[in-house]
Amino acid sequence: MNPSPLGDRSATSQPFTVSLTFFGDLVFFLKRGGTAPTIQRVLKERTSVKDVIEACGVPHPEIDFIIIDGAAVNFSRVLQDNTAIEVYPVGFTHASFQSCPLQRRSVTKFVADGHLGKLTRNLRLLGFDVISPTPAEDQRLLEVMQHEARALLTRDRRLLMHAVVRDGFCPRSPYPDEQTVEVVRRFQLSNSISPFSRCLQCNGALQGVDKTDVMKDLEPLTRVYYERFRRCKECGKIYWRGSHFDKLSARIEGFRAQLA
Ligand SMILES: [Zn+2]
Repeated sequence: MNPSPLGDRSATSQPFTVSLTFFGDLVFFLKRGGTAPTIQRVLKERTSVKDVIEACGVPHPEIDFIIIDGAAVNFSRVLQDNTAIEVYPVGFTHASFQSCPLQRRSVTKFVADGHLGKLTRNLRLLGFDVISPTPAEDQRLLEVMQHEARALLTRDRRLLMHAVVRDGFCPRSPYPDEQTVEVVRRFQLSNSISPFSRCLQCNGALQGVDKTDVMKDLEPLTRVYYERFRRCKECGKIYWRGSHFDKLSARIEGFRAQLA
């Protein structure tokens, strides 16, 4: 009725169970919508730890440490029997972390998908290099990311799980100002803020120009009241300390206060 194979030691696909515990804000990604941070999965064949983690909904660029039996492992570790796995996000400190983290911190160039327009503008306001290709098709985003060594900013988790993504981040908050703080924290950019150095529209660098050089492009009152101007090297847009300047300055100070 229930014959067992005799001497079948070659069978390799005995099911086994892996237990994954997610720490910090990685619970944000878990598919079940609950907050229970531990997930059990039954596997029937050898599987990389990266694939098992992403099957739970957590993109690999969000993972900084994977701990098995008290030791850090990398994404290619193969699971083949019962295993308990701890998974930690960037920014989570733990006394046992002594090896190299899986994620880089010092990325300063980004490519953002088209749904993050306000975040893109905020980051440019703080002086960071953020491009947002149009049309923002997935393949285009990935190409730019690879060719220009940029980190991918997107709330599309499937896109973030693409195998070619080296550096990336999914903003947790739906609100652009909170997303801005999240990105600066994730990539440790607080000390690299350089306001009014980059064009908000096109991401080009701004450079100081003589008033005489831009005179013909100014409105009459602007000609009268302002003396110092900057111009975008890429699109030619002219910036000066007009009424919008105080509002933008207040926004920048708001970000700084949250990051302090
Ligand atoms: Zn520009």
